[in-house]
Amino acid sequence: MEGLEGALAELRDTFKSGRTRSVEWRKSQLRGMIQFVQDNEEGIFKSLDQDVGKHPVEAYRDEVGVVAKSAKLSLSCVEKWMAPKKGDLPLVFFPASAQVMPEPFGVVLIMGSWNFPISLTLDPLIAAISAGNAVVLKPSELSPTCSSFLAENIPKYLDPKSIKVIEGGIDVCEQLLQQNWDKIFFTGSQRVGRIVMAAAAQHLTPVTLELGGKSPAILDRSSIPTNMKVIAKRIVGAKWGSCSGQACIAIDYLLVEERFASDLIDLLAKTIKQFYGENPRESKSLCKIVNKNNFKRLLDLLKDPLVEASVVYGGSVDEEKMYIEPTILLNPPLDSQIMTEEIFGPLLPIITLDDIYESIDFISSRPKPLAIYAFTRDETFKKQILSKTSSGSVTFNDTLLQFLCDSLPFGGVGQSGFGRYHGKYSFDTFSHEKAILQRGFFPELEPRYPPWNSFKLHFIKLAYAFNYIGLILLLLGLKK
Ligand code: NAD
Repeated sequence: MEGLEGALAELRDTFKSGRTRSVEWRKSQLRGMIQFVQDNEEGIFKSLDQDVGKHPVEAYRDEVGVVAKSAKLSLSCVEKWMAPKKGDLPLVFFPASAQVMPEPFGVVLIMGSWNFPISLTLDPLIAAISAGNAVVLKPSELSPTCSSFLAENIPKYLDPKSIKVIEGGIDVCEQLLQQNWDKIFFTGSQRVGRIVMAAAAQHLTPVTLELGGKSPAILDRSSIPTNMKVIAKRIVGAKWGSCSGQACIAIDYLLVEERFASDLIDLLAKTIKQFYGENPRESKSLCKIVNKNNFKRLLDLLKDPLVEASVVYGGSVDEEKMYIEPTILLNPPLDSQIMTEEIFGPLLPIITLDDIYESIDFISSRPKPLAIYAFTRDETFKKQILSKTSSGSVTFNDTLLQFLCDSLPFGGVGQSGFGRYHGKYSFDTFSHEKAILQRGFFPELEPRYPPWNSFKLHFIKLAYAFNYIGLILLLLGLKK
């Protein structure tokens, strides 16, 4: 790639100069980010509409608003986050002080994703800036309008000597991954996550992998039927209301007791109509499938004869317009691709169980998901979900909102990824926490040095065991 070496050299020089470390630089970039979002709302809306058919309301909720909120939070907290934190020390170390000082990693690579091409690209950028890094930002080529919009406009608002937007496809990603980065933050699939991690291993580069997986929603009998209408809205909202199911934390499938399935399907169907009208194809509130490859992938999931036979609502497809109707399936085979791979689109399988408590085994015998949703008022069931399953997050009685809580870390576990961000976690993810210990030259504790004897052994044992007698030990240790 032309100019990559030069761009990286410039970023390394800038970082070395200390420019990105100062609080003034960080704050000025965060202000720049806020200004970028304010000035370019319309341009962002248009780009999102072009790439994925996102309605401005959804675009503001999931993209513009998220970025503005993060930038404002970081601006108000960055000074506090940067400040070294005092650490406790054993008394026997007296006189001494301990500090944990966050320092930026250096020059970092951020690879964004296409489904939330603004927020999932700029939110990590805000994090990297707050932590004082120089950055290469690689927006996804699968949302080309947003990618070029960012490449054109970000340099007008942010320091181009420290932050560079590089566009391109797989070949560009491959070249970027060959470089020696100080940190890589990747959002995307498990398949490419493995490639990123293998490349990072060559340089022992730390990585954050924000991946996906099959996130289930459990409907417990205790929440049915009194709350069914609200639950149906929250399910439809989490399946079709955020990029048409092309969201990492979208509900992938539902688990419910068999006796409730029929009513649930009716209510979901009603809610879909309420949200998207009789003909969702005409709805401006439903995002489109991003491209031919993803359309073909979803079609393959649906057109498996045993899967197609399980369609209970929707199922119509328009190949020319790459449209798949919001579709509900009842008990597709568990070994079919739709139940073994992340769906990432507008298809919703419902799996019925005899007893909802079986859902815990169902989930825990599969790869760890990014999110688990559970609609339940049963406190014992909640405790079992928390203690017997593992996932990036658990949300009780709602969907998606965990993503918007700054106090909650956002990230996966196991195959849904590792590392986390949002709020202060974002700053931490792009910082190395440097341990600093300072001591005076007096007094000197002789028992820490050879020649060894039994007094020194007792001394060391006591020093580990009883901090509060540190001062006495100190006095003893001075003499022996
Ligand atoms: P992807 O992994 O296919 O692509 C991501 C990026 O990787 C693209 O820019 C692409 O150019 C690059 N890439 C592809 N092949 C490559 C290769 N061989 N070498 C180097 N780079 C390569 O992801 P996608 O299909 O665009 O996104 C969908 C996935 O992302 C889903 O699994 C979804 O769950 C996940 N996702 C996760 C989050 C999260 O925050 N956890 C958010 C959005 C999407």
